[in-house]
Amino acid sequence: MSLSRNILLWASRNEWLKNRVPKMKFVQKAVKRFMPGESVDDAILATRELLKHNIPTTFTHLGENITSLEEAEINAQHYIDLLDRIDKENLDVELSLKLTHIGLDLSFPKTVELFLQIAYKAHKLNNNIFIDIEDSSYVDTTINFYKRIKEKHNNVGLCLQAYLYRTMEDIKSLVVINPCIRLVKGAYKEPDTVAFKKISQVNNNYIELSRFLLKAIIEKDIRVAFATHDLNIQEHIKTEASGIGLCKDKLEFQMLYGIKSAEQYKLASDGYRIRTLISYGNHWYPWYLRRLAERPANVGFVLKNLFNK
Ligand SMILES: Cc1cc2nc3c(=O)[nH]c(=O)nc-3n(C[C@H](O)[C@H](O)[C@H](O)COP(=O)(O)OP(=O)(O)OC[C@H]3O[C@@H](n4cnc5c(N)ncnc54)[C@H](O)[C@@H]3O)c2cc1C
Repeated sequence: MSLSRNILLWASRNEWLKNRVPKMKFVQKAVKRFMPGESVDDAILATRELLKHNIPTTFTHLGENITSLEEAEINAQHYIDLLDRIDKENLDVELSLKLTHIGLDLSFPKTVELFLQIAYKAHKLNNNIFIDIEDSSYVDTTINFYKRIKEKHNNVGLCLQAYLYRTMEDIKSLVVINPCIRLVKGAYKEPDTVAFKKISQVNNNYIELSRFLLKAIIEKDIRVAFATHDLNIQEHIKTEASGIGLCKDKLEFQMLYGIKSAEQYKLASDGYRIRTLISYGNHWYPWYLRRLAERPANVGFVLKNLFNK
């Protein structure tokens, strides 16, 4: 892992910086590259544009590691109201959320209770919810949580990270319950006791996991979303999929708003399923630093905003 990536991931968890950096105007300006705005209205406006190109979206209300159950209830209610709004406006928008945004650090049973309310609402409105995966200390709890929710609701998916050594075993243990999986490389700072360090190793593991998952799509008719901007990996998956007879419209990619937009349009026009994840909200600091860490050259873009004030 590069030094600059390490520094950015360290900064993403630093409280002193977290309290100061988001107030800087030039950083606020730079964040707009990755999110259309802080409000739901901004995310909906961006969705309407993407839908014109047959690209549906997923919304993430930014926030994590909250410190009171009162906040957890407010956040859960936000998701429930949002599902109503999406339904009323007849938009193809799914939700994705972090369990620590609805209280996982504080109470497992309360988080289950709140999540079930959201999942039930989504079920009634024929919508789907994904559970984001956070750093490796949460993976066991999140997978157990998912298995428990899956007993009651089919409309819930789980994100898994290819940089973790354990992920193939996790997928094998999940495949028996017909999961819905979003596969990513992984965005956190992890020790080499749990995660591959070299990007080539992460990429190889991503390809190995995707090969297994492509077969599972065919054999078990499960939904898998390959969430990566890595065009080499996307090509690999497309070739592999067509080799085993998986139709384009069964192959789903997911990408983040503002990253490789032209390629997102191209996937849609080529007949693949592509969904864009849009983040909004004002707690964007740790999330934004993780985006910078994915491509430290992005820091140059932030500095450009400082000098172009
Ligand atoms: C829909 C979606 C959901 C996600 N959910 C989670 C989650 O729940 N948990 C989690 O740990 N991670 C999540 N991630 C983030 C993921 O783990 C990676 O950190 C991120 O996607 C970058 O990895 P990559 O696969 O694009 O490959 P990389 O090798 O990092 O990137 C490939 C290429 O894409 C471009 N690129 C990638 N990131 C950026 C960027 N920030 N700015 C500009 N260009 C960039 C660059 O050209 C780069 O060379 C999610 C990603 C997506 C797309």
